[in-house]
Amino acid sequence: MRTYIVGNWKLNFTVGEASIYLHKIMKSLPNYRDIQVIVAPPMMALQPLSLQVDRHKVKLCAQNAFYRDYGAFTGETSFSQLRGAVDYCLVGHSERRYIFHEDDKVIAKKVAAAIRNKITPILCIGETESERAFGETADVIRDQLASGLSEVSDDDVSKVIIAYEPVWAISSVKSAKLATPDEVAEVIKLIKTSLGDIYGAKVVDEIPVLFGGSVGPSNAGGYLTVPGVDGLLAGGASLILSEFVDIINVAKRVRS
Ligand code: PEP
Repeated sequence: MRTYIVGNWKLNFTVGEASIYLHKIMKSLPNYRDIQVIVAPPMMALQPLSLQVDRHKVKLCAQNAFYRDYGAFTGETSFSQLRGAVDYCLVGHSERRYIFHEDDKVIAKKVAAAIRNKITPILCIGETESERAFGETADVIRDQLASGLSEVSDDDVSKVIIAYEPVWAISSVKSAKLATPDEVAEVIKLIKTSLGDIYGAKVVDEIPVLFGGSVGPSNAGGYLTVPGVDGLLAGGASLILSEFVDIINVAKRVRS
């Protein structure tokens, strides 16, 4: 399986800045065939960037989209409108769950809408600090996984990517801490077991599972050697050219 390195730019960069930054990323990268580099710019930049991007080097990802294709949904952008412009879309990122109150039903509909529109959903799941403290991590992970995939058929499940992002390790969270590779390993194992329970052991190896949470060049290698981790999702570090490129180069070194 290829190694996935995803950069989530969140609400950063104007369209012009995003275009220059993408240009710099592409210039700094060789064409690593075994590393799939993906960036998630803000919505406004997706259309112009889709005309600029060299898809052999970098693929585009939306940060969010709405599950209905059209209609009276003021302010929303649909997966059908993004079709052709992006190859991936984040779904269920913790900032969508906790700031914008997206619940599991909405997230499940978004995962299904992405697949319907030939966009690969990157389903983000992860426990909060208090859920971990109360020993609820396994339940939260199993529930978010099962409900997020509840509208996905057996035939389609291999079109999904899972990203494990413990909310307490995301750099924008005030009390963020680094997850240890052992903590990551435990949850990745649980995710694989849960996927096997729902869809059968055969598909487990077809579904990439990424890790995200304050990933940077200095810890990327450690996370990428955790059994079952197929790639990384970086937020803050993906906004700094040298750090993002270093993460990709670490991935190339560790995984080749
Ligand atoms: C994220 O927002 O998905 C993320 C992992 O952010 P950071 O790398 O900044 O913790």
